[in-house]
Amino acid sequence: MGQPAILTVDDDPSVSRAIARDLRRRYGAEYRILRASSAADALDALKDLKLRGGRVAVMLADYRMPQQNGIEFLEHAMDLFPHARRALLTAYADTDAAIQAINVVDVDHYLLKPWDPPEEKLYPVIDSLLEAWQVTGDREVADIRVVGHRWSEPSYQIRDFLARNLVPYRWLGADEPEARRLLEAAGVGPEAVPLVVTADGRALVRPGTAEVAEAAGLSTAPNRDFYDLIIVGGGPAGLGAAVYGASEGLRTLLVERQAVGGQAGQSSRIENYLGFPDGISGAQLTDRARRQAGKFAAEVLNTREVVGLRPDGSARTLTFADGAEVSAHAIVLATGVAYRPLAADGVAQLTGAGVYYGSASTEGPSCSGSDVYIVGGANSAGQAALFFSRYARTVTLLVRGDSLESSMSYYLIQQLDRVANVRVRTRCEVVSALGEGHLEAITICDGKNGEQTTVECGSLFIFIGAEPRTDWLGEVVARDERGFVYTGPDLLTSGHRPPGWDRDRDPFYLECSVPGIFAAGDVRANSVKRVASAVGEGAMAVTLVHRYLEAQ
Ligand SMILES: Cc1cc2nc3c(=O)[nH]c(=O)nc-3n(C[C@H](O)[C@H](O)[C@H](O)COP(=O)(O)OP(=O)(O)OC[C@H]3O[C@@H](n4cnc5c(N)ncnc54)[C@H](O)[C@@H]3O)c2cc1C
Repeated sequence: MGQPAILTVDDDPSVSRAIARDLRRRYGAEYRILRASSAADALDALKDLKLRGGRVAVMLADYRMPQQNGIEFLEHAMDLFPHARRALLTAYADTDAAIQAINVVDVDHYLLKPWDPPEEKLYPVIDSLLEAWQVTGDREVADIRVVGHRWSEPSYQIRDFLARNLVPYRWLGADEPEARRLLEAAGVGPEAVPLVVTADGRALVRPGTAEVAEAAGLSTAPNRDFYDLIIVGGGPAGLGAAVYGASEGLRTLLVERQAVGGQAGQSSRIENYLGFPDGISGAQLTDRARRQAGKFAAEVLNTREVVGLRPDGSARTLTFADGAEVSAHAIVLATGVAYRPLAADGVAQLTGAGVYYGSASTEGPSCSGSDVYIVGGANSAGQAALFFSRYARTVTLLVRGDSLESSMSYYLIQQLDRVANVRVRTRCEVVSALGEGHLEAITICDGKNGEQTTVECGSLFIFIGAEPRTDWLGEVVARDERGFVYTGPDLLTSGHRPPGWDRDRDPFYLECSVPGIFAAGDVRANSVKRVASAVGEGAMAVTLVHRYLEAQ
């Protein structure tokens, strides 16, 4: 298959030569460095490479080029090599324009010219792009194949699971010739989808996510039955706790029921997380955090749902959905929140078949040319609108309130304003979802006059508030009326410690009503619902775990 390529395009020959020289010096042994002096030449080179079955890891384009600027070039190049990582080269004067453009097309980084010394300014960026590319790789060469129907809920679940866990896979519609061959080899008909064929040739018929996780090499069983620290939930708070816990020498286990990354993993671009001035996608942030936790030897369990917690003398014991148990000295609850279901006729039946909760980035390409509707007026809905506007003919945001101003960040409202195919409808609600086997239309009720209209709709994405889903905690720890977990000062009523509290100290800041059980991130009552605060609380919880362990 040959070496993967790093392609650079710049209309200034001296810049083009210089960057190719620097790239060759560092990456020439493992990557083919391709250089072009116009967008048209670069696209020709990419087409040629595509025909010869080549791979492209990174594309680096100058922003200011005649005929086609760097953004336009990258948009076209993405059609040929959608999984190549992308960066823009800009002059200082163009930074603002580049950042605005980055928000519209999915560019991973921008680099300022000149990039001297490359060791400081160029190589770290290219290293991180190459790392990201190596993880997701080129899906054309993925080992896992999934045969399914576009509108089948179980097929969607498997695709979404693999995508959110950053496992490369190849999707085959059940009526494609190769899919038919795989179904025949597995001895089943098209009604048996999803069929997952693993790298070593095993055929899994209608597998659950746990089976797929195992097949993809994701760990599902703990290596020991007692840990210093167990973290429940693998979103930013849980990952933060795992990195700090393991790096500080605690035997640390993180348990995740779905996909590591949590809500943040579903974000198409997080722009307000410190240290990423040009934004970072949830998938990339998750991937980095997961690798960081792994580097410090934190153990991560996938597809394991925790359904029970009890104090067991000085130990704290968790029960999994299959009845198995695991214990630790201390627990961090980092279970976040999950989307509230939309109460409208037909929505439950069509979920996974045109109706999706969260951003479902796997659905981007299949929305090409269609009309997409998004329910919700918060930042998550705004980010999704920007994401889908790159694929869909139109994207309509359906907002219950009078305006976006009270629920969405100013920077996002401004970005949405600038995208021609995004519309915002305020004071309206979806009252039904219609379709045979998959979503075909929705009925919207206009809150101003009560009028109902039915519109054709290919995909409906729902982002309407979230709830903590902590019922499984029962009475073990104190929670508020919505299920959020009380910690620290919130547990003191008129200076009194919580009932049953058996220490001669107040609960630590993130400690629950039972000593040794902590909560961090969105699941905590009165928490700030942000990536930065979740990560911060995860780190802080570990410091408090140390304090708790010292006093034991
Ligand atoms: C689409 C979207 C975009 C966003 N964009 C931004 C942004 O740009 N900037 C920003 O600051 N914030 C953003 N947010 C908010 C931010 O993502 C959250 O505040 C943050 O993820 C909270 O982290 P957490 O770890 O507390 O919880 P979560 O991210 O909710 O993670 C909790 C994890 O726990 C797991 N879990 C739950 N129960 C169990 C159980 N019983 N057993 C095992 N595992 C369990 C869940 O599967 C989940 O993976 C966005 C949210 C969404 C949905």
